[in-house]
Amino acid sequence: MESNGGINHELPAALDSEFLETAWGIPKSGEKHAPMWIARPKVTDFAVKFEMLFCGVCHSDVHTGTNDWGPCNFPFVGGHELLGRVVEIGSQVTKFKVGDICAVGCFIDSCLKCVNCQKGDEQYCLDGMTGTYNGVKKHGRVGGNQETRTAGGYSASHTVHEDFVCKIPEGMDLEKTSPILCAGVTMYSPLKYWGAASGEKKIVGIVGIGGLGTMGIKLAKALGNDVMAISSSAKKEALAKEKGATMFACSKDPESMKAHAGKCDLILNTVSATHDINAYIPLLAKGGATLVQLGGVTTPHSVSNFPLMMSRISIAGSLIGGIKETQEVIDLCFKNGIYPDCKVVEAKDIDSCWDQLINSNADGVRFVIDIKKSLQNQDYIPK
Ligand code: NAP
Ligand code: ZN
Ligand code: ZN
Repeated sequence: MESNGGINHELPAALDSEFLETAWGIPKSGEKHAPMWIARPKVTDFAVKFEMLFCGVCHSDVHTGTNDWGPCNFPFVGGHELLGRVVEIGSQVTKFKVGDICAVGCFIDSCLKCVNCQKGDEQYCLDGMTGTYNGVKKHGRVGGNQETRTAGGYSASHTVHEDFVCKIPEGMDLEKTSPILCAGVTMYSPLKYWGAASGEKKIVGIVGIGGLGTMGIKLAKALGNDVMAISSSAKKEALAKEKGATMFACSKDPESMKAHAGKCDLILNTVSATHDINAYIPLLAKGGATLVQLGGVTTPHSVSNFPLMMSRISIAGSLIGGIKETQEVIDLCFKNGIYPDCKVVEAKDIDSCWDQLINSNADGVRFVIDIKKSLQNQDYIPK
């Protein structure tokens, strides 16, 4: 049944290979979040079961759960920045032991055979990765009912094949770690790919000072670059500079944009809503600079060839990062003490967090759900 652009399902009863677990999700398209039971796979040979500790709230959760990216399947449980503690492992698991802290990002399976998977770029799997939520189970490593869609980390536990689980070093600040799994790697991967992690100092522009933008500023700086924050809100200047930006341009102020023209070697654009990218192109340096589009914006852009030709400018895109790269950025953040600016919330607050993201994330924070605390709220767990 379709409603409000989404597809509503009657979830089948849990199979013998599954168990019922607490989650917080959207029961039907267009509705608000509510506590619910979901079926999670039981542990099989290579699977790692972990109790959830924290889960970040990404703007992609909002796009997906509001059918921005096309019809989503409901009930929908968001969350692809999962951090937990291992409670059970399958007989063939070698990477984890019970008690380890572990994490899962945006996907939980891919073919592992295609040229991109073989290179460690599972996010670009030629056969399509299985997303952590609303994903199709088609590669065989997600257990349980193969006909239902995957459910994300706004939940009390998850069970995932060890190849898609990352290790969290001992001593990491767990309350602040989960956003590295999406926001962190999404910014790290293009910084690396476009040469801003090589030690040669560049000027990196970060557009949109929200969850991704914050991590972008911190990572670009830690990798030895100068950072220009570019925001639609002049109010975010102090905030961006606190996070490590040395330059600030307000995209709503033509004078400010003019003053920063031609400076950036690379711009990572995280804007989450329909916008005109022509505003950012003049900020790029002549001779080969790149604007990397990261926002999940579906409205097409209209760009003239001329500014691109006159300065040999490229417009590109980038999607999260592979498992190896995700582990790399976790380790880098741990080593350098780089953490996202998080605001810890409970599951009952998810709708209000989504509203704040839809309204430009005024405080430039990543909301992180404290799962253990959420489970203590007897009024907001499934009956
Ligand atoms: P967020 O915290 O809501 O931040 C988005 C930022 O975009 C806002 O803080 C705001 O920054 C800016 N913005 C919003 N509306 C705008 C508008 N109309 N015009 C100009 N700027 C606007 O979201 P997020 O979690 O960082 O995610 C950002 C986007 O990246 C989302 O679309 C998400 O789906 C996508 N994403 C992509 C990947 C990937 O792999 N490529 C991974 C994760 C997320 P200012 O107030 O500073 O202007
Ligand atoms: Zn995300
Ligand atoms: Zn593949």
